Amino acid sequence: MKAVVTGGAGFIGSHLIDLLLDQGHEVVALDDLSTGSRANLDRASAGPRFRLVEGSILDEDLVGSVTAGADVVFHLAAAVGVHLIVDHPLRSLRTNLYGTEVVLDAAVRHGCRLLLASTSEVYGKNDADGLHEDADRILGSPLKSRWSYAAAKGLDELLTYTYGQEHGLRAAIVRLFNIVGPRQTGRYGMVVPRFVGQALTGRPITIYGDGQQRRCFGSVHDVVPAMVTLACEPRAEGQVFNLGGREETTIGALAHRVRELTGSPSAITHVPYDEAYGPGYEDMRRRMPDTTRAHELIGYKASRDLDDIIISITDSLRAPDRAVAT
Ligand code: UDP
Repeated sequence: MKAVVTGGAGFIGSHLIDLLLDQGHEVVALDDLSTGSRANLDRASAGPRFRLVEGSILDEDLVGSVTAGADVVFHLAAAVGVHLIVDHPLRSLRTNLYGTEVVLDAAVRHGCRLLLASTSEVYGKNDADGLHEDADRILGSPLKSRWSYAAAKGLDELLTYTYGQEHGLRAAIVRLFNIVGPRQTGRYGMVVPRFVGQALTGRPITIYGDGQQRRCFGSVHDVVPAMVTLACEPRAEGQVFNLGGREETTIGALAHRVRELTGSPSAITHVPYDEAYGPGYEDMRRRMPDTTRAHELIGYKASRDLDDIIISITDSLRAPDRAVAT
C-alpha cells in the first residue's frame, strides 16, 4: 500500500516508516523538521520506496498533494515534548488543532484510511491502577500549558471520531503511553533519553520533584507494529486503543536503574518542578495503561521490559554516529 506518515522524521514516525518499508509498502513522510530530524530517516532514505516532503501540516495544498493516491495516513505530526509546549504554546496549539483538521480533511477527500496518534496525556491526573479507554479525564485549567496540550489532543480525537461519523472517514485512534526507544531525544524533556544521556556523559541525573511519580514505559518496537495493524483493521474504525508497556517504575528507581545499567559515575540529584519547568507546572503522580482492548482485538502485548528498553537506548546513544548530548 501507499502510506503517508505526518511527523515521519520524528522518533515514533521514523520507526513506523522503517517497518512499513520492511513490509514492502511505499511511504511519504511529511515533516517540518521542527523536532524531527533527517538523520532519523537515514535508513528509510537509502531505499527507492521512500520520500520525505519537508513542510507543515498547516499547509493545506501540500497536505492535499501528499495524501492524493495514498491508501492510509498515519497522523503523528504534533508539537510534542513538555519543553516545546511550554516554550511555544500558541504554535503548539495551532499545530495540534488546526493541523489535525487539515489532515483529516485531506484523508476524507482522497478516501484514505487514517490512524491518529493521540496520547495518555488526555487522561490528565487520573492515577487509576490501569487506565482503560473509557476512564475519566482529570484535567487542570486549560490555561496551563500541560492541560492545554491534553485538551487539544482530546479535541483531535473528537474531530477524528466525528469525521468518521459525518464524512465516513475510516479512522482509528491510539493513545500512546510514555513510548521510548532509540532515536528519541531528551532535548524536549523525555526522561529516559535524558537520564541515559546524562549517565553516559557523567553529568548529574536530574530527578524532578520527589521521584516517587510513577510511569510505565513502552517500547517503540512494541507499539509500531500495533499501529500498522490497527490502521488497516476495519474492526478498529471509530475506536480508541491504549498502547504502552507493562512494567511500572518510579522515576527515582529509573534513575538508579539507568546509572547501574550504564555503569555511570553520575550523581543523582533532585530538581524542584518550578526550576525544571517554570512556576505552576503540574505533574501526574502515576500513569499506567490498561491495554486489554488492543490485546483482545489484535493480540497486542508489550514484550520488552524496562531493562531491555534502557539498554537499547544506551546502545543507540553510544553508537558513534549519534550525539550523546541529550
Ligand atoms: N522527569 C525527571 N527528570 C527529567 C525529565 C523528566 O524526573 O530530566 C520526570 C517528569 O517530571 C515526569 C517523568 O519524569 O514525572 C516523565 O517525564 P516525561 O517528560 O518523559 O513524560 P510525561 O509522563 O511527563 O509525559
